[in-house]
Amino acid sequence: MSDCIFCKIVSGEIKTNFVYEDSDVVAFYDIKPEAPVHIVLIPREHIERISNIKEKDAGLVSKLFLAATKLAQEKHIETSGYRLVINCNKDAGQAVFHLHLHLLGGRKLTWPPG
Ligand code: AMP
Ligand code: ZN
Repeated sequence: MSDCIFCKIVSGEIKTNFVYEDSDVVAFYDIKPEAPVHIVLIPREHIERISNIKEKDAGLVSKLFLAATKLAQEKHIETSGYRLVINCNKDAGQAVFHLHLHLLGGRKLTWPPG
């Protein structure tokens, strides 16, 4: 997707430091962090939103979550706790229409979210 900001991050057109990468997934710090640790994990493949995933994407979605748990360990928020968030469409506030998983931690997070 030529006009997708996260596709541009994957391709390197927008220079971004990856805190994690493998053949299917990349992760980077959120540009507008909502917590001391706020990492965005995305598939390299352009999928618009979580509601668009198909059976064939099951492995890819698992890889996103596995990478998030690795990063939570690496960033020392596993014991204190963290939250994994996927916003889907307007009411959830999805702003970038390339599937992404937020990893948030390093502070007490309120529940329910706003
Ligand atoms: P969402 O509201 O779930 O669509 O979240 C999109 C997230 O992407 C927001 O938290 C933004 O701050 C973040 N974001 C947008 N552009 C960039 C960028 N160039 N680098 C890092 N994070 C970004
Ligand atoms: Zn994209």
